[in-house]
Amino acid sequence: MAKVLILGGGFGGVVAAERLAQQLGDEHQITLISRSRQFIFYPALVRLAFGKCYPEDVSFDLRHSLINRRVNFVEAEVAHIDPFERKVTIAHGEIEGKLPFDYLIFALGRRLATEKITGFYEHAHHLLNVDKAIKFGHAINALKEGRAVLGQCFGARLPVPVYETAFALAHHLEKKGQRDRVRITVVSPVTIESDLHDRNGATALKRALAHENIELLEEFRITSLTQDSATTSTGHAIDFNLLMLVPPFQGSSAAHYMEVTDADGYIHVDSMMRVRGHERIYAAGDCVSFSGPKMGHMAVRQGEIAALNLAAEIAGQEPTAEYSHEMRLVIDEAGGEGLYMHKDIWTDEPATVRQNRFWSWAKRMQQRYWEVTHS
Ligand SMILES: Cc1cc2nc3c(=O)[nH]c(=O)nc-3n(C[C@H](O)[C@H](O)[C@H](O)COP(=O)(O)OP(=O)(O)OC[C@H]3O[C@@H](n4cnc5c(N)ncnc54)[C@H](O)[C@@H]3O)c2cc1C
Repeated sequence: MAKVLILGGGFGGVVAAERLAQQLGDEHQITLISRSRQFIFYPALVRLAFGKCYPEDVSFDLRHSLINRRVNFVEAEVAHIDPFERKVTIAHGEIEGKLPFDYLIFALGRRLATEKITGFYEHAHHLLNVDKAIKFGHAINALKEGRAVLGQCFGARLPVPVYETAFALAHHLEKKGQRDRVRITVVSPVTIESDLHDRNGATALKRALAHENIELLEEFRITSLTQDSATTSTGHAIDFNLLMLVPPFQGSSAAHYMEVTDADGYIHVDSMMRVRGHERIYAAGDCVSFSGPKMGHMAVRQGEIAALNLAAEIAGQEPTAEYSHEMRLVIDEAGGEGLYMHKDIWTDEPATVRQNRFWSWAKRMQQRYWEVTHS
């Protein structure tokens, strides 16, 4: 019998657990540990902020859904992993102390390094969890005039919700007859081309922003905030009446002691999602050190690959499933439609870019499909 621990109840961890349960016989024990029993469907948080769905539409109870799939769920905080002793230290939660494992999948996502931006906590909105998205929604409703600044901080690696917010805000203000009273500015710490890793995608996105009269400031690295002003590393400042920023990301601190992380704390893995330098340990999702944006569909695919290879290992076979680093993104409401982009990041061929209403619909259907098949 093998004891498999999966750390993290996000896209990567949940899919890995489900696939493992399909692959392994009943004699093996699969346990998923996460700090909250709520699964959050993050791509819907922009819609939540704009009142287009409810909190109960974007989350479901993990314990309930996993038990049906023969996976034990433990609600607890992971503090430390000892890859040599093969033990995970649980700081607090339903259980505490050290849990042994034979195999591990690390899927704890990323940490928000808000402390890197002076004044972030006090003065910026973000929408990276349900409560913050709702709070940001209240601020949107209170905005009547002035300037809305929306963007990413350097190291954020999450462009989609920033652009979706800009387009949704433009349409929201239009409906209220207030569009001409609010200037909308998107700030990006890098060029759009390097943010999206593609020239075609950047061109289409810039065209959609211009169509909605949304201003774009590229290579604008915000380092500090006051109540109504944002300043960059080069001393430029802009005033705002509403600010939504995605803070810098960093790898999970629980990965630190495995000594396999890059300068930002992300875990080095090979294309089979095996953590480099350690046996029987895999990683999947936002926590891994791959280039480009951090996205849910990547976490899903990586979770699948990790599970398939881990199951092969347990069966005494060679792991053979390989991950290929593709980006598929849909920016909802871009130019009144949806902007779809598909790119193989590792081969760096030009992206396929499409723009029409179908993609906004497809994005919502994807959420619905996930809800129906996982909750
Ligand atoms: C607003 C928003 C919009 C987005 N839009 C899109 C989109 O349109 N398309 C797309 O592909 N992606 C999108 N993403 C990105 C996508 O949501 C992430 O890439 C994805 O959630 C990563 O999955 P993950 O499993 O790696 O990490 P997460 O989903 O972050 O899951 C990590 C899990 O680990 C738990 N955890 C963390 N630390 C600990 C600890 N120490 N102990 C115990 N548990 C812990 C967390 O509670 C969480 O359950 C969006 C993200 C946001 C925030």
